[in-house]
Amino acid sequence: MHEMSICEGILQVIEDQAVAQDFKEVKRVRLEVGPMAGVELEALQFSYDVVTRGTIADHSKLEVINLPIDAWCMPCAQKVVVKERFDACPDCGSHQVQINGGDELRIKDMEVN
Ligand SMILES: [Zn+2]
Repeated sequence: MHEMSICEGILQVIEDQAVAQDFKEVKRVRLEVGPMAGVELEALQFSYDVVTRGTIADHSKLEVINLPIDAWCMPCAQKVVVKERFDACPDCGSHQVQINGGDELRIKDMEVN
């Protein structure tokens, strides 16, 4: 499962940070996820609980922040924000919209003890 390896990656970052910043317990992790990251949030949550069991992040809460998609509208010649991949430009309704990014998946911050 794709989500499982993502969570292993998250845990790796947490454990590296724990050594670098000398904390013993993680209470909450906030994860920024773009709509195109291709993760299933329920599976992510489940994998997180499995992967963190018995680690310093055991019983911590994984909070997902859904990021909007940055796009470029060609008729408007400006940056716009859309919610879905095939959304039209919110200003002019054109579908000549180029998507930039949206596949982000990164830890925003964490609450530690
Ligand atoms: Zn437009």
